[in-house]
This record gives sequence, C-alpha cells and structure tokens, in this order.
Amino acid sequence: MSLHGSYDPDNLFAKILRGEISCVKVFEDDAALAFMDIFPQSRGHVLVVPKGVSARNFLELPRDRIGPYLERVQRVAVAVEKALQPDGVQIMQFNGAPAGQTVFHLHFHVIPRYEGVQLAGHGQGKKAEAAELAAIAKEIAAAL
Ligand code: AMP
Repeated sequence: MSLHGSYDPDNLFAKILRGEISCVKVFEDDAALAFMDIFPQSRGHVLVVPKGVSARNFLELPRDRIGPYLERVQRVAVAVEKALQPDGVQIMQFNGAPAGQTVFHLHFHVIPRYEGVQLAGHGQGKKAEAAELAAIAKEIAAAL
C-alpha cells in the first residue's frame, strides 16, 4: 500500500511545506524547498522536496514537473559540493516502504560523502543540533 495509495495532505513534508512544522531551510522557490535532514546520514545531508504537487513518490510526479524539480536537485547538489567540498555526493530517492521510504511526499536526498567516513544507515542518523544544521545550511545557501 505504501507504493500505491492516496496522498496524505498531513504527511510530515506537507506540513513543513505549509510552515506548520519548522525546518532548517537551504533554498526555496516556486518549484522546490530544500532543507536539512535532522537525522543526517552524513554532514550536510539535504532533502529536496517538490512544491505544488501531491506526489507520494517519483513515479507519481507529473512529467511536466520533472525537469524543474530535478534542476533544483542538481542546483542544491552543486552548492553542497561547492560549500562543503566532500569527496563525493550521493543522491538517493526511495519509492515505497519496502524500498526504504518513510515520508510519503516525494523527496530526493543529497548526501555528501567524505573519504574514509562511514555513512550512517538510512533512517539511522543521529539527531543533529539545530545550531549546527543552521550553520551548514547557511554555508550551502551562500554557494547557491
Ligand atoms: P525517506 O526515508 O527516504 O522517506 O526520508 C525521510 C527523511 O526525512 C529521513 O532521512 C529522515 O531523517 C528525515 N526527517 C524525518 N523527520 C524530519 C524533520 N522533521 N525534518 C527534516 N528531516 C526529517
């Protein structure tokens, strides 16, 4: 059911998009909102969420929204690379609970990778300090 089902307008990211739950914002325009993952799998883990769509996952994203949304994902990834200078950047996206999805509003993960640093498992990152996330978000935003 998690891959096929109806969009819940009260999912966590819908609430963040409406400003009902706060986030540490990196970027926002008419097509997407990017914010820090509060349980980062590595330093600088950002989530990029499309705006104005009720898509639970990538399979449901209307075709005419794919281009604008992925352009924002790439823009954030480029800024993460420029700001944090990781050795790699991993871009991940999950569709359906068996694939690892836990929040059912489409999102891409932009995860910087650092040589020799083990990645925390998906959903197993430790909760980050808000002040630390805000400082990283500021660095990334400055590189956009
Ligand atoms: P997924 O498991 O692919 O659906 O990703 C959901 C992501 O949301 C996980 O990486 C969580 O760490 C992250 N997450 C959960 N709650 C919050 C929150 N309040 N703010 C930011 N990220 C969150």
